[in-house]
Order: sequence, then structure tokens, then C-alpha cells
Amino acid sequence: MRELIDDLKNIELAIFDLDGVIYRGDTLIPHSDEIVKELKERSIKVVFNSNNSTVTRQIYVERLKKFGIECEISDFYTSASITSTEITKIKKNAKIFVIGERGLRSELKAQGHNVIEEVSNYNDINFVIVGLDRDFKYQNLATAQKCILEGNAQFYATNADSTLPVVRGLKPGAGVMVNALKTCTGKEPVRIFGKPEPFGINLILNDTQIPAEKACIFGDRLNTDILAGNRAGIKTIAVLTGVTTMEIINDLKMRSIKSENIDRNLIPDIIIKNLNEMFKK
Ligand SMILES: [Mg+2]
Repeated sequence: MRELIDDLKNIELAIFDLDGVIYRGDTLIPHSDEIVKELKERSIKVVFNSNNSTVTRQIYVERLKKFGIECEISDFYTSASITSTEITKIKKNAKIFVIGERGLRSELKAQGHNVIEEVSNYNDINFVIVGLDRDFKYQNLATAQKCILEGNAQFYATNADSTLPVVRGLKPGAGVMVNALKTCTGKEPVRIFGKPEPFGINLILNDTQIPAEKACIFGDRLNTDILAGNRAGIKTIAVLTGVTTMEIINDLKMRSIKSENIDRNLIPDIIIKNLNEMFKK
């Protein structure tokens, strides 16, 4: 069996971002299936953490199964499932107006919340929760605005990614919807639960009961995956199979040395070109 590099030899928990690390669009990134298997054979717990709130965790299970990666629903932490868990800690059986898609609605319903589609009384709504909505409508924005400004609803968001990577380039991300509601209410979300906030990683550490010093995150985005990992105090590994290049990281390191206003939590502990480089040659 190959040996993990020294920096990772004590790892008991590996958290993987999905797009840009395990697959890219509809294509498996070569060897990621074998590597997940190999880690599990070493009794390293593997979980997946994505900011995409549009699909259910069951769909992720099926997507990864198609790529030959065996996993179960509880192995996934999406910004939708993390949001639902955190909202439940604040209030059980809440009345929620959602700007978002099926993944977010179904995760909220699964934890007992009432997702209101037609709002008749704005005062009834406890929370407005915003995630990526690829069918974003002016009327829903107007309803959300009224729930917050005329009712008592509190504003939360799944994530604030500016862009969404697709097979060819980029599309608008959830941050666009979040900013729309910010603009028309003059309010900031009370919380944003996805990466780079550490809620998801903290939930994973709590669920697995593995201490932060034995955990790591593999991600392709500095301002979500790496920032979240460093904020949560786990080891961070940037994988260059997605949106980040070595030039971007080197440039950031240079600027942080010159002590420009760079958040050092954006800088990964380890950089690997692909997942194979987590092993010794
Ligand atoms: Mg990614």
C-alpha cells in the first residue's frame, strides 16, 4: 500500500469538496474514485462538503455511485443540509420562505420545517433563506423583501459564492441572489452557513467525533474551501484540478509577505497538483 505524505500521515478524517476535486462537471477527475476507496481502506473517514444547495444529498449519492464511488447520504454536507441543521438549532418547525431550489427545500422539510410557497401573511414567516436559484423570479424577491421589512422574518443564506463553475466557464452563483435581497432590504444576512464559514466543518467534526488536528479538507477554491478549513483549524490542502492555479497561490503568498491586507487563512497548508500527490512517490 502506498504511503501518505508526512504532512497527512496522522489524518483520520478527509473532507472533500466535490466540483474541481472529485469531478469536474460531468467528468470524474482521474483516480479520485480509487483514492477515496484507498483512504477508506486505511480507515480514514471520508465525507463530502459542497456549497451547492440545489440538489438533494440523495442525488449526490447517485451521482458519485455513477462514478464508482460508494457513499451514503450521511457522508454529504451540502450548504442546504448544513443550513437546515443550523436553522433547526435556532427554531424547530419554523415557517420559511425560500429563494432557492429543490435541494434546499427538501433538506428544510426533512428536518420538520414548513416551507411556505404562497405567503398570505408576512408576519407568519420566521425565516427567509436564500440559496442558488436558477429560476430566480422578481416576484419571489418582492415576497422575501416584504417578509423581512413588513413582517418579522430573519434573513439567512446558504452561501454567497459569486460564481458557479459549469462545464464551460462560469455562471452566476448564489451570492447574486443574496445580494439582490441585501440591496432591496438594506439588511445583511444574519448568517451564511456554507463555506467559507466553518459551520459545515464544525458539524462534521462533531458528528464524527474526530479532533480538528486529525482532520483535513481538500478543495480547489481558496476563498471557500481553504478559508473555511483554516477558520475551523483543520489542515488545508489546495488541489489544482479546479479553479485555482499555482500562479494564483504564489501571487497571494507574495502579497501576504508584503503584508498587504491579505487574510492568511486563504493560504493553504499544502498544495498538490492532483489527489495522487497526497501519497509518497
Ligand atoms: Mg470546488
